[in-house]
Amino acid sequence: MYRSAELARWQSLLRSFSPATILRWANRQFGRSLTFGSALTMEDQVLTSFISEQSLPISIFVLDTGRLHEASYTLLENTIQRYKAPIQLYFPDWEDIESMIGENGPNLFKQSVDLRKKCCFARKEKPLRRALDKKKAWITGLRREHWTAGPTLEPIEWDEARQLYKINPLWNWSREQLTNHVERNQVLVNPLHEQGFYNIGCEPCTRPIGPGEDPRDGQWWWESSKSKESELQLSASSTGPSKREKIARIQV
Ligand code: SF4
Repeated sequence: MYRSAELARWQSLLRSFSPATILRWANRQFGRSLTFGSALTMEDQVLTSFISEQSLPISIFVLDTGRLHEASYTLLENTIQRYKAPIQLYFPDWEDIESMIGENGPNLFKQSVDLRKKCCFARKEKPLRRALDKKKAWITGLRREHWTAGPTLEPIEWDEARQLYKINPLWNWSREQLTNHVERNQVLVNPLHEQGFYNIGCEPCTRPIGPGEDPRDGQWWWESSKSKESELQLSASSTGPSKREKIARIQV
C-alpha cells in the first residue's frame, strides 16, 4: 500500500532532480528493497551507466526469455564487463516452456493473440514476478514519449498492478536528450538501433521500422495494433533507430 500524500510529495521533489540524483534518492529511500529491471534498451543502458558511475548498490536484473537477439546477449556480456555490473538473469520455468511448446509449437505467438500472450506470460511475466518479489520499488527506463508511458508519466508512481513503487528517472527526457547523452558519454548500446530497430525484445517478435512507420509496427507486426498493449514490457523500449542519429558506441 502507499499513501497518496507521500507519493505527491515525492513526485514534487523528484521533478526537480536529475536522473542520477533520482537514482541516489531511490537508493537511500528503498535500500535493498529497490531493484532495476533492464531490458537492455538505450534508456536502460544509460541508467546502468549512472548506477555504475555512482557505485550505487542497486541490484540489476534482465529477463532472459530464451528468444532474445544474439546482439542483445553480446551487449549483456559487454555491459557486465564495462560497467562491472553484477546483472542477475531471470529465466522462464522450464516446465512452462516445455509444455507450452509441446502443445503449441515453438512459434506459437504467430498463431493467435492469446497464444502470444501465453508466451509472454511464461517467458516474461512470471520471471518478472519472481524478480520483483518482496521489493518495494523498481526502476524503469520509461519516458513520457514512450507510447506505453504517455505524457502524464511521473518520476515516481505507484504501480498498482504490481503493488510497488515505480521509479522513472528518465521520465521527462526527450529522444534527442537521450541520444545526445549516449553519444557524448559513449554509453554502450545495442547496435540493432542503428539497423532500424525501435523495440529490441525477443528476436522473432521485433523487426526494424522504416521512415514514417509507427514504433508499434516494429513489434508483433502480424497483429492488429489494438492487441498490442505491451503490458509485459519492462521498459517499453527504446529510442528509435536512426541512421541519422549517430550513436557513438564503444566496441568492447
Ligand atoms: S515477445 Fe514473442 S517470443 Fe518474446 S515472450 Fe512475447 S511472444 Fe514470446
